[in-house]
Amino acid sequence: MSYVAHIEESACAAHGDCEAIAPEIFRVDDVAVVIADGPDELMLEAARVCPAVAIRITEQTTGEQLFP
Ligand code: SF4
Repeated sequence: MSYVAHIEESACAAHGDCEAIAPEIFRVDDVAVVIADGPDELMLEAARVCPAVAIRITEQTTGEQLFP
């Protein structure tokens, strides 16, 4: 199983929590962007701490939404 992160740009407040937790996956400029794949659990943890719930996690193969 492999996860994919999507940023809801209209919701992102660019506070940078995702980048602080997973700098290898997220970079924050005007809004957060996904710059690389990373460990699934780290990606999920970053989504959980996002105060704006702006990170959606899906399963790569099935497209199933895993978070939120
Ligand atoms: S933690 Fe959420 S709101 Fe903050 S920069 Fe990352 S995606 Fe945007």
